[in-house]
Amino acid sequence: MSAYDLIVIGAGPGGYVCAIRAAQLGLKVAVVEGRDTLGGTCLNVGCIPSKALLHATHSLHAAQHTFAKMGLTGPAPGVDWPTMQAYKDDVIGQNTTGIAFLFKKNKITWIKGWAQIPAPGQVKVADDVHTARHIVIATGSEPAGLPGVPVDETTIVTSTGALTLTKIPAELAIIGAGVIGLELGSVFARLGSRVTVLEYLDAITPGMDAEVARNFQRILAKQGLTFILGAAVQGATVADGRATLTYTLRKTGAEQTMSADTVLVATGRRPFTAGLGLDALGVTLSPRGQIVTDAYYATNIQGIFAIGDAIAGPMLAHKAEDEGIALAEILAGQHGHVNYATIPGVIYTSPEVATVGQTEEQLKTAGHAYKVGRFSFMGNARAKANFAGEGFVKILADKATDRILGAHIIGPAAGDLIHEICVAMEFGAAAEDLARTCHAHPTYSEAVREAALACGDGAIHA
Ligand code: NAD
Repeated sequence: MSAYDLIVIGAGPGGYVCAIRAAQLGLKVAVVEGRDTLGGTCLNVGCIPSKALLHATHSLHAAQHTFAKMGLTGPAPGVDWPTMQAYKDDVIGQNTTGIAFLFKKNKITWIKGWAQIPAPGQVKVADDVHTARHIVIATGSEPAGLPGVPVDETTIVTSTGALTLTKIPAELAIIGAGVIGLELGSVFARLGSRVTVLEYLDAITPGMDAEVARNFQRILAKQGLTFILGAAVQGATVADGRATLTYTLRKTGAEQTMSADTVLVATGRRPFTAGLGLDALGVTLSPRGQIVTDAYYATNIQGIFAIGDAIAGPMLAHKAEDEGIALAEILAGQHGHVNYATIPGVIYTSPEVATVGQTEEQLKTAGHAYKVGRFSFMGNARAKANFAGEGFVKILADKATDRILGAHIIGPAAGDLIHEICVAMEFGAAAEDLARTCHAHPTYSEAVREAALACGDGAIHA
């Protein structure tokens, strides 16, 4: 039995960041993690491995489609799938061991195993009961699955199985045109799979600014992804290693079937809280299974807190990290805080898509008068040189005050470009503030400045 100021359950981006900040602020901290490596879903089977595969296949695509135009001749590279997998595993290993190093550096104890909370102030791992003043639940999420579509992680897979497929499928059916479906769909399309995405709604990426979503779909279709929209998938069966899907076209009610070598179920994730003993403790959950917390991440049970995918809000690693830092600061007597209005969202396809703040649809619904500054990457010299002229930057600003309300980017390095707008929004900036900030030439970031200029007297290169 050992006593801590804080025990964090779960070593994903929410949990490990919370632990590190709490240790930096002088707390005695332990983290319980049952996986063999630290980093949670993000580092082991999510963000990081998928980015490795996106990078590898984007490089392949560049070699196939742009190298010759730049005078880089020779045969295009082939795909050695096991070596690509080994590269991905090495990237995972470098990152997870990096967290283990940070734990040592910050004197954080890693309690290996799966945690249960028998009573407030106690965390049980195997036969050991550890005590702590504060307990933080940072147990993340798991694939939500779909009734009638039995996942076997071989033929019908979640994102976890898709990352370790033993061979590249000739035909891949993806259920759900959300972030996971489109990122992994891009990977396999570039590896030569025929990719079909079935989406329940009439548009891809629900919640995204509609103009960006439409352009995104057009660009992905050009890259070879086939979309069947308004398709409610009802079930799947597997015979002889091949899957058959049944779906209903919502407009007509027509029942359809399609078959594929592999089916990826990417229909969302749900909080992962099984085994913690929350029912017995009386911790309040929402109807969606999220742990209910107040503005300070406290549950209804004294001394038990929760952050990240296990609570409400977007299921994003960086949202969890920010909550982890804020909560560690609160527990150390400071005033931690997360500004949910400036959390960016990024889809790491090529081109990338990045958004922050409100969409045009949200502003219209709210009756908020706004103006739009738009700039195409075709007008950006650097993008043209790099075969990256597809896409645009769109900045939405208050019609009367010019204050930036949101930004939506589809284009090269969108996931990096979005952050100058996040910072501007944190400072309550007007579009003119961005427009009057000198941006180095030639960079992609000039497209952001041009969109800001377009909110005023006009962009220069449009
Ligand atoms: P999602 O919620 O982004 O998309 C799921 C899609 O599946 C929706 O478009 C939904 O309409 C569709 N769908 C649901 N049921 C269906 C059915 N029966 N038939 C057809 N379509 C159906 O979920 P996801 O892509 O699984 O991602 C899960 C979570 O992980 C999300 O919160 C996402 O933000 C997060 N994530 C983020 C990143 C990133 O930030 N780059 C990457 C991966 C995952």
